[in-house]
Amino acid sequence: MSYIDKIFPNPLPTVDEIEAKYPRRNLPDGAKVTRVAPSPTGFMHIGGIYAALINERLAHQSGGVFFLRIEDTDTKREVEGATEVICSSLADYDLNIDEGFDRNGNEIGAYAPYRQSERKTIYQAYIKHMLETGKAYPCFATQEELEALRKTQEASGARPGYYGRWAKYRDYPVEKIEEKLDAGIPFVIRFKSNGSYNNKIVIQDGLKGKINFPENDLDVVIMKSDGLPTYHFAHVVDDHLMGTTHVIRGDEWISSLPLHIQLFKEMGFKAPKYTHIAPIQKMDGDSRRKLSKRHDPEADVRFYDKVGYPRVAVIEYLLNLVNSNFEDWKRNNQTKSYKDFPVSLNKLSPSGALFDFVKLNNISKEIIAKMTTEEVYDAVYNWAEKNDANLHNLMTANSDYVKAILSIERTGAKNARKDIAKYSDVSAEIEYFFDDKFAISDEMKAELKSVKKYVELVDTYIPMFNENDTKDEWFAKMQKLADDFNFAKNGKEYKANPDAFNGDISSVVKVFRILITGKTQSPDLSEIQHVMGKERVLSRLNTVKNI
Ligand code: GLU
Repeated sequence: MSYIDKIFPNPLPTVDEIEAKYPRRNLPDGAKVTRVAPSPTGFMHIGGIYAALINERLAHQSGGVFFLRIEDTDTKREVEGATEVICSSLADYDLNIDEGFDRNGNEIGAYAPYRQSERKTIYQAYIKHMLETGKAYPCFATQEELEALRKTQEASGARPGYYGRWAKYRDYPVEKIEEKLDAGIPFVIRFKSNGSYNNKIVIQDGLKGKINFPENDLDVVIMKSDGLPTYHFAHVVDDHLMGTTHVIRGDEWISSLPLHIQLFKEMGFKAPKYTHIAPIQKMDGDSRRKLSKRHDPEADVRFYDKVGYPRVAVIEYLLNLVNSNFEDWKRNNQTKSYKDFPVSLNKLSPSGALFDFVKLNNISKEIIAKMTTEEVYDAVYNWAEKNDANLHNLMTANSDYVKAILSIERTGAKNARKDIAKYSDVSAEIEYFFDDKFAISDEMKAELKSVKKYVELVDTYIPMFNENDTKDEWFAKMQKLADDFNFAKNGKEYKANPDAFNGDISSVVKVFRILITGKTQSPDLSEIQHVMGKERVLSRLNTVKNI
């Protein structure tokens, strides 16, 4: 019995059998096969959606395949429920996977299993083959031995790591290996690197271009003592068998690239094209930093649902980070889906995109502005059901009234209202329509009182009031009031001669806006009056004397 049989006493498929089971994909020229390969170690980071979006678009716009692989070989770091969050987040954001796991975690696709922990025998078959061909070896180094090695290397100024002459078990005699195995000493399997640190290699990255590296000479662990492979080894086997043509992943992996390329070569596989993308960053004072799981709520994908951004707004925002020409394209293709936009890898910023809420809000406002009343109503209602019980109750009890409120400056409006960026903004936009939630703050009272003749203005308007006035009819009444009470027609006229007037027409309108809405800014007042109805508006106007 060879020592290799002692390492793998149970029967394993041969490498040829596995290769036959997962044949090369038959795809048209140019079709890209991409994947997302998250480790289930916590919540879904917005950067994960960002990377998935790039991979999904590149695959699907080329007629290729986009798949999901769960990289769960590091069992210590695994967090319960994380896989479910990954599957549902991808589905929620319409990042349709062709293979892997659907929203409910059901496995789909011909290259299954797509969960690395279920591919143990596949990896072991390749590791066995590596042992047989002299490209790997068992290593019995204990933690203490490795620690001692590190200290010796440090003291002598040598480069740290398990390589070359430092790799004690690299050429360990077979009898001794057998002895240790027989004694049940724990071991890992290491890759026997044939690289030399002094050799320089050039690797082409899809975004960063040609990068120079020293060759990898580290004998990295490819199988841990629990029999599971490390990420480095597992992804090489998987991307080979699953036919990945393009790997687009975070640039924290760039330093592992020489090893990965070397592993592909030594195993006789064709390496995919690698592109390393910088993480999404944000400004912190004067400097940039990565969006952090710990400090930034917006790093967690669930944040966007919670505050109520339409998911398509988040995706369009991310696309705008991916390719800054997306915005122009969108302006010229207003009715098209973002899926018609051709994503281009070389338009990505190599230094990384900056997260910007103002931009996200603007994109979201545009999207919400284009929704019909029914669409906004349904979206807000569904959002409130999960996130805002008060709003949900209010909408349930007054659905027609709330629809009318949401239709203000919406249906058919030339310039649809753009004051809602997220569904959590809606409460503040509709509460003042309800008497029990309406109040005029002291600050607003002071604003109101700062307008000269405000009581007379209101008293004069009340008999003229008609809730069915069009915007023009209503504004004509404002102009008449301005005229009668000596307010200038516009700001310019007033500024030219401030002493001659009591103010300008905007002050006149402000009086009514504050009395009716409690705010100095609101959508069109004529429409608001119409939706509120005569009785409610007049009763609000009549409070003017008590202020
Ligand atoms: N499992 C790795 C990660 O979560 C995947 C890296 C890759 O895409 O190759 O970062």
